[in-house]
Amino acid sequence: MSSVLTHPGVKAPAEYIEQVMSSVKAKNPAEPEFHQAVAEVFDSLRLVLAKHPEYQSSRLLERIVEPERVIMFRVPWFDDQNNIQVNRGFRIEMNSAIGPYKGGLRFHPSVNLGILKFLAFEQVFKNSLTTLPMGGGKGGSDFDPKGKSDNEVMRFCQSFMTELQRHIGPDTDVPAGDIGVGGREIGFLFGQYKRLRNEFTGVLTGKGLGWGGSLIRPEATGYGCVYFAAEMLKSKKDSFDGKLCLVSGSGNVSQYTVEKLLDLGAKPVTVSDSNGVIYDPDGIDREKLAFIIELKNVKRGRIRDYADHYKKAIFMPTDIKLEHNPLWNIKADCAFPSATQNEITAKDAANLIKNGIKLVAEGANMPSTLEATKLFLDAKVLYGPAKAANAGGVATSGLEMSQNSARLSWTREEVDDRLHKIMIAIHKNCFETADKYGTPGNLVNGANIGGFLKVANAMLDQGLV
Ligand code: NAP
Repeated sequence: MSSVLTHPGVKAPAEYIEQVMSSVKAKNPAEPEFHQAVAEVFDSLRLVLAKHPEYQSSRLLERIVEPERVIMFRVPWFDDQNNIQVNRGFRIEMNSAIGPYKGGLRFHPSVNLGILKFLAFEQVFKNSLTTLPMGGGKGGSDFDPKGKSDNEVMRFCQSFMTELQRHIGPDTDVPAGDIGVGGREIGFLFGQYKRLRNEFTGVLTGKGLGWGGSLIRPEATGYGCVYFAAEMLKSKKDSFDGKLCLVSGSGNVSQYTVEKLLDLGAKPVTVSDSNGVIYDPDGIDREKLAFIIELKNVKRGRIRDYADHYKKAIFMPTDIKLEHNPLWNIKADCAFPSATQNEITAKDAANLIKNGIKLVAEGANMPSTLEATKLFLDAKVLYGPAKAANAGGVATSGLEMSQNSARLSWTREEVDDRLHKIMIAIHKNCFETADKYGTPGNLVNGANIGGFLKVANAMLDQGLV
């Protein structure tokens, strides 16, 4: 192994990190989420840089924070009243050292360059952890699908893909869904890609089952997160049996988190959306989950309706101006934040800890602020960071790509079994890496270091590109 002595001019890791971090802030102003994601990874990498000065002498950190390519484009479309609307589209092609760019598309009014760069940066390490050959990317638009007709969503998707198609391809960049992009949107995007390029390829994942999609892909992020959490509990000789669980959000990740929790004998008691929280002390059973899925995926309604239908459930409106969310102040054993970034503040984390939470597994991307994460780690809560805990979605996208390349389809059991094994392997890698670098049980360090090493070594092998 090389040492600081064989790399003269190499600074102490803390000094090098501080220097790169201030340059990230100076070069990417007004992108707080991107700064946050980089700071969290860098904090773990101190341990690596101390052992491997070659990463510093090859300026690996400066290179890994710089996207390989950023694409930003105009998306004009006609609404149902024949008015012209204009949105902004993005694709961040962050890192292709270990495979084609891979990562979702998000359609939400809050989308901006900094948010997509944080997501693309996280995706690089997450994809590396899956053990599959996928680089990292992310994209989307500030388009809000809420309240739009199916025809408006279709016209928007067609305009978005008319530009995006020239930048993506099955061996170049393979987008998928994320917030606001589900089966309907992937269908419209795929249709337009096929029409413009005259080719039927696996250019998107999350496709419909009849036209190249994989069984278990819709379920994969939620199922995978619960499989990961089960491994965390197992490391303490514990299980989900009878555990009270808090789940936030009521979209794709939340729905299948609730389903797998029920499979494993736990009792989920909450879901939410951007307007408020449902607390159902009797537990959300399969019939109630079917109601949520119909409400959110078909009627595209608000979660408040759950409390009108199930009278014992309580609806609590949320106020984004407040520094805490009532959902995280309900006493429970396990928490599954599955809505959006920074939804658990320091105050929320303190409430969870005060109420004796045992485990937090992140279905959403970066749902905990840096302060909240620190509180969980200091309190020795079992804490499964997003880039490991929610990697099951992209892993199953990787399995969809393999099936598309081979032009075959695996059974539900086969895909689920592969997903389960991948989540067990990711947990093992994070657990053992945390141990190896002297921070046993710290899965944040385990995930960041485990994800980084594979990408960094591939970048060194491939020269200065
Ligand atoms: P989704 O189906 O669109 O559902 C998102 C849910 O989160 C909805 O209930 C939404 O409520 C809520 N939400 C969104 N923005 C919010 C905000 N600013 N404040 C409060 N609530 C908000 O999206 P999803 O695919 O489940 O994604 C949820 C999270 O998981 C995201 O962080 C995403 O990046 C992450 N993730 C997703 C996948 C995947 O495969 N889909 C994979 C890995 C990670 P409204 O209905 O009110 O908007």
